[in-house]
Amino acid sequence: MLITAQFDSGNIDILEAADPENIRLSIRKDNQSDFYQWFHFKLYGEAGVEHVMHIENAGHSAYPDGWKDYYAVASYDRDVWFRVPTEFDGKTLTIRHELDQESCYYAYFTPYSYERHQDLIQWAQQSTLCEHVLLGQTLDGRDMNLLVIGEQSEEKQKIWVTARQHPGESMAEWFIEGLLGRLLDDEDGAVRKLLQNNVFYVVPNMNPDGSLRGHLRTNAIGVNLNREWEQPSLEQSPEVYHVLKAMDQTGVDMYLDIHGDENLPYNFVAGAEGVPSYNEQMDALGNRFKAALVAITPEFQTEFGYDVDAPGEANMTVASNAVAERFQCLAFTLEMPFKDNANLPDADFGWSANRSQQLGADVISAIYAVADDLRA
Ligand SMILES: [Zn+2]
Repeated sequence: MLITAQFDSGNIDILEAADPENIRLSIRKDNQSDFYQWFHFKLYGEAGVEHVMHIENAGHSAYPDGWKDYYAVASYDRDVWFRVPTEFDGKTLTIRHELDQESCYYAYFTPYSYERHQDLIQWAQQSTLCEHVLLGQTLDGRDMNLLVIGEQSEEKQKIWVTARQHPGESMAEWFIEGLLGRLLDDEDGAVRKLLQNNVFYVVPNMNPDGSLRGHLRTNAIGVNLNREWEQPSLEQSPEVYHVLKAMDQTGVDMYLDIHGDENLPYNFVAGAEGVPSYNEQMDALGNRFKAALVAITPEFQTEFGYDVDAPGEANMTVASNAVAERFQCLAFTLEMPFKDNANLPDADFGWSANRSQQLGADVISAIYAVADDLRA
């Protein structure tokens, strides 16, 4: 038997792996940080034998409630990821799986590899609609990529979408794949119409270092990028520094920041109700966006989500709040579940890469519903 996490976004420590009935594991913390929850490893075992994997430090992870009613994902071919029996006793997360083949991968959610990220950028660049802009470099020396879709001009509205500030929230980049698939389809009517008056600025991965390192929440040096938007620095958070600088150059008329939520089994958005400049007009516009998305897909809902910030109480270090205030524009954090959408559950796969892609495509229709009124 062998367990390894020595690959792109791998994360596990092996305490003991001698007996298939009692495999003892623990999740590594993000570098220079106490956050941990993302795991991703390969088990080489014995076909036909049940393997019982105990993640013994799950109870002290960043979001212990995230393990309640949670099922780990597994894959034999690294393409199809299915859910496997998983239990949490308040302390230890236990995954039980009888192997059909000799080896299997396990993860917190369907991984989105750095290789796939690079393929996505180069694929997008092939489109005549898309310009690939290099914004700068991360602390580990990776490139910060921006995709500009549509012909840039002063008069057009600027719609920004960023994803995966928290690298363990891999569903965010699957979402971006779906969004880009639609934005780069030159026969999509809503997109053709949108691009007459709007330009899209998409950052598919805000945190490539954390993604490759197998982090949950932080960059290479343990910094939570979604708390850096008040004063990003080249030393601590170059990822945010470069993106905010580009936003200052273009302006922003609408902003979506794409995430995954460990606890809630729903898709939802969090608005900027608590920022100083929030007003009735922005509230009405935001409600129209949400109503449009509810009408488009049963995967989205507005009943469950975060508590709404009281007026003036917003955390201004958070991207969607900072951007809403800086550019006086409509801005949301969009959250997808690690578990499933409890309104439309799928026991075999749970919330998945495919469903994240579909939601990314559907969001274009909701943007289309409000785009003419962003500055009305
Ligand atoms: Zn997040």
